Amino acid sequence: MNLEMGQYKPSRFKSNSQIARVVTEAWGEKNLYCAACKASRIIRLRHNTKAVDFRCDSCSAAYQLKSSRTWNERRIPDAGYNAMMEAIVQDRTPNLLILQYSPSWAVINLLLIPSFFFTMSTIEKRKPLSQNARRAGWIGCNILLSAISSHGKLRVIRDGVETSPDNVRKHYQQTRPLSSVNAKARGWTLDVLRAVQKLEHSTFSLQDIYAAEEELAIAHPNNRNVRAKIRQQLQVLRDLGFLTFRDRGIYELRE
Ligand SMILES: [Zn+2]
Repeated sequence: MNLEMGQYKPSRFKSNSQIARVVTEAWGEKNLYCAACKASRIIRLRHNTKAVDFRCDSCSAAYQLKSSRTWNERRIPDAGYNAMMEAIVQDRTPNLLILQYSPSWAVINLLLIPSFFFTMSTIEKRKPLSQNARRAGWIGCNILLSAISSHGKLRVIRDGVETSPDNVRKHYQQTRPLSSVNAKARGWTLDVLRAVQKLEHSTFSLQDIYAAEEELAIAHPNNRNVRAKIRQQLQVLRDLGFLTFRDRGIYELRE
């Protein structure tokens, strides 16, 4: 990858956001590769719909690219709330690429979040737009990056240093079994994985993870037996290769 994007800067655009879009998409077309297969380039979609900016010709993986000068790993603004929730339930969110660039148009950070890490718990509803806004009443959403498990954050470029494509693809493949879990059930799986990571100990007991019971009950108000659900999801995570069962009631998170 060539991390300098300045060469793609157009002269005919007026707003900064337009310029940023042109520059980062032109850069992406020349430099982005597919993490889901071996394809060395992904194709830019000029008339994008449904938030897809790039698509892989070989495996059809879809990518959305979001760029900014600032970097906020807690949340980033996204499109309409209802459309996003619908996309999650129907399992058609694209892979998300979040790019940060410097004032001189060099790529500093590029984070890839595989599509199957987006769940309802990772989406925050924004306040409706005010009566004076052009789209009064419209409700947008934020993607809560802080609610996404670290397994779902692939550092393609970190602080100006590129991770080898082999490593990015390996990591993507390791987490890919998640995509086999039904989109509705996956919310539970990922919320329990996130709760395990919050423990900050790779080895933990059932009692340790039960501490997350209240938080999970709030996120899933229709479920009355949260502990049983936690145990079930620990088995799912074991079957997917994220956890190892050590002993009776003792678990280990695999990195
Ligand atoms: Zn591909």
